[in-house]
Amino acid sequence: MERLLGNERLKAGLSAAFASNRLSHCYLIAGPAGSGKHTLARILAAAMECTAGSRRPCGVCLQCRKVLDGVHPDLITVDDPAKKTVSVETIRKARADVYIKPNEGLRKIYLIPRAMDMNPAAQNALLKVIEEPPDYAAFLLLTDAAERLLPTIRSRAVPLQLAPLSETEGLAALAARFPGKGREELADAWSRAEGWLGQAEQLLREGESLAPETQAFADAFARRDKLGLTELLVPLERKKREELAPLLTQWAELLSRALAVRAGQPGRWEAARRVGRSRTSAESLRALRSLRRALELLQGNVSPGAVCGALQVWLDVN
Ligand SMILES: [Zn+2]
Repeated sequence: MERLLGNERLKAGLSAAFASNRLSHCYLIAGPAGSGKHTLARILAAAMECTAGSRRPCGVCLQCRKVLDGVHPDLITVDDPAKKTVSVETIRKARADVYIKPNEGLRKIYLIPRAMDMNPAAQNALLKVIEEPPDYAAFLLLTDAAERLLPTIRSRAVPLQLAPLSETEGLAALAARFPGKGREELADAWSRAEGWLGQAEQLLREGESLAPETQAFADAFARRDKLGLTELLVPLERKKREELAPLLTQWAELLSRALAVRAGQPGRWEAARRVGRSRTSAESLRALRSLRRALELLQGNVSPGAVCGALQVWLDVN
């Protein structure tokens, strides 16, 4: 069964509650991205639906399996991903549904994956039902920070605050999940993720989707490493046009994302966040323009060798 790593005190408290059947009807699960909120929510939901006599959730009964596979009809996600906020209409729809008895489970569980995006009206609409719910109803509220919810909601929920993992635990988990990666790469992702396993995993997966040359470009550009950039560009002179163009396009995309990071948007590529942290918007914009010019030349039949040569001059790393 799925396991929540670390968080020993939190797990001990929950195990005691599971064993004595003292489950609350409303939990507020708080932690940043990649901290295990969804894992914990699934474990809680399975414990609520599990039909085993003891040691719930057993992970093997039909009810547990349906929860863990994400197909339990009484585990309902309350969200409208197309919208920026969780609206009062979305909450009202869930509220109307609460009064319909569970399909097959012991409880009917409402999972609100981005509770912090409920506006005050939506939170107040939710409050009405968590104050006096039917006895089979349960609510799992996920948020990046508990204080982003109204005190009236918080006072009715059992808070479950997720903690970062220790380095030993984190590195062991990463080594098991990414057997092909070297220790140094794992340690690097771990230190950047600051203890949040899910973030480290995402960094390692992102790293796979970026070309190694793009990672090298981000490193050299972020560190103003003129020699590194030359060492990167010289071998590229021998690439074919159709190999070089997608690479330069990815570099341009990286710089666009770095600019977005500087404008305060979340960066989905760690490499872009790194560039965004170390280079100003003007510097990234200048490099982006150089890359676009290089791509135009490449399309206009200028040779890859000449284009890479021009880039060595244009890409200002000082
Ligand atoms: Zn079970």
